[in-house]
Amino acid sequence: MPPGWPGRRPGHIVILTGAGISRESGLDTFRDAGGIWDRVRIEDVATPQAFARDPARVHAFYNARRAQLPGVQPNAAHLALARLERAFAGDVLLVTQNVDDLHERAGSTRLLRMHGALNRARCTVCHATPAWTGPTETDTPCPACGRAALRPDVVWFGEMPLHMDEIERALARCDLFVSIGTSGTVYPAAGFVTIAGERAETLELNLEPSDVSSRFDACRTGPATLLVPALVDELLGG
Ligand SMILES: [Zn+2]
Repeated sequence: MPPGWPGRRPGHIVILTGAGISRESGLDTFRDAGGIWDRVRIEDVATPQAFARDPARVHAFYNARRAQLPGVQPNAAHLALARLERAFAGDVLLVTQNVDDLHERAGSTRLLRMHGALNRARCTVCHATPAWTGPTETDTPCPACGRAALRPDVVWFGEMPLHMDEIERALARCDLFVSIGTSGTVYPAAGFVTIAGERAETLELNLEPSDVSSRFDACRTGPATLLVPALVDELLGG
């Protein structure tokens, strides 16, 4: 158990990750100062209305994001969470707000991607979600139905995040909730600590305290590549 955690040894852990865990891999983040949303307007590329108005621009924006993925690697924090999943005697569910594929490439399999995935496309006609590595264009045919109806498989502003029922069930029964590298201010994820906190111990790991640190039982500050491996060592070795 982490020191200073007098509660019971956790059997069910839910871990939420955000941009802060992928920043040290060198990916452009969205919300940070100097991040993508400082350079591109959300309403031009990341809403259903933007896609209806100018689908070619939206495809181009996400093609550029997808093209970054092969140039970055999972870091020590991603790898530590995969190690936790493999070695922990209880149940670990990883929930990520990130659309990159670094958790998967690190080896995590119990993973829910609530904002979708850059490395998938989604067909707006047949709802297939084929794995995708190259660009998509307005005339790219869906591999399943053949219609030129693909969109990025990412959740846009104004759309409902994915897997919410499963996430909320896991939060309600977990006994440790850890939030890593998220601002904690964007709903619905901002409410996870409240749901979990009914019965679980809650821990925030962040580069600096977030606006919602006070809602957690404990907060540790520092780089994810240092804090996450240390926490995993505690959970596996304690
Ligand atoms: Zn289709």
